[in-house]
Amino acid sequence: MAEHFDVLIVGGGPAGLTAAIYARRAGKSVLLLEKEGFGGQIASSPKVENFPGLLSISGAELADRLYSQAEALGTRLELEEVLEVRDGTPRTVVTDYGSYTCSALILATGMKRRTLGLPGEDTMTGVSFCAVCDGSFYRGKDVAVCGGGNTALQDALFLSDLCRHVTVIHRRSAFRGDPVLAEALCKRSNVSLTMDTVVTGLLGGDTLTGLSLRSTLTGSERQLAVSGLFEAVGQIPEAALSASLVPVDGDGFIPSGEDCLTPAAGVFAAGDCRAKAVRQLTTACADGAVAALAACKYCDDL
Ligand code: NAP
Repeated sequence: MAEHFDVLIVGGGPAGLTAAIYARRAGKSVLLLEKEGFGGQIASSPKVENFPGLLSISGAELADRLYSQAEALGTRLELEEVLEVRDGTPRTVVTDYGSYTCSALILATGMKRRTLGLPGEDTMTGVSFCAVCDGSFYRGKDVAVCGGGNTALQDALFLSDLCRHVTVIHRRSAFRGDPVLAEALCKRSNVSLTMDTVVTGLLGGDTLTGLSLRSTLTGSERQLAVSGLFEAVGQIPEAALSASLVPVDGDGFIPSGEDCLTPAAGVFAAGDCRAKAVRQLTTACADGAVAALAACKYCDDL
């Protein structure tokens, strides 16, 4: 017979881990299932400097701390992929390892990286989606970062400490990311900003040797010699599981309000998978707390 939990959380990023902390502190039995690695996107962030109370911390360390806190409180944490949720009383959550039942379900499935969709992107050595993971391979080399959000700006700052030169390529003339990061980049002598430009192709055979670039203003084309391209062009929601349980909007986000409720009784949405204006670590954690307390109340009212 499947093991039963009061609250089952899908997704081990900051929203899911915070939900686990709150639900455990409320005395509920809690299972958190994560398919890839605990900590979510934040685990690959070079530096977090906007989490209140922590002046500066690496994303990996913050992820470790959240994990340890959830674990110390008695959360059961498993690396398993949820394949299906079967309706019923209680609901059954089927994973690649087994199945569980739960009274309340919190979807904290986050987002996955968007890619540029260029030929060779998936197979070529030299194309990366994680500066923290792969940056050291490019020590002393010339690299490019594509994107204009906070991830791209932070990645470029991180890489400029390792690489000979970093070219940031952004499709518009203004960055989407925080001005404080853009200002810090402008002060780096080994960083150049290539604005109003898109990457149209990857040069080289099995290994990247350069990029084809096109100006969005003039349409002119040129090539840039680099050993590495770090793509940081945003994220898209992990929508498949959500869509099987609750309505999602055209972009795949769950249109749940600040209360984290969904139209499905006993199903709650927290963090980046929820349609929202501000996607920050703090708002993900806030969602985790709200969703957990709503889930606990749901269990109590059963
Ligand atoms: P993002 O803010 O959505 O930025 C994605 C960037 O990629 C945008 O500049 C976008 O250009 C560009 N882009 C998208 N599709 C593209 C394409 N096909 N070709 C070229 N460029 C493309 O994504 P993010 O930087 O990953 O950040 C995600 C969320 O996490 C944000 O809310 C961000 O603030 C947050 N975050 C916060 C921190 C922090 O410490 N504060 C750190 C990392 C991330 P346009 O600007 O033209 O749309």
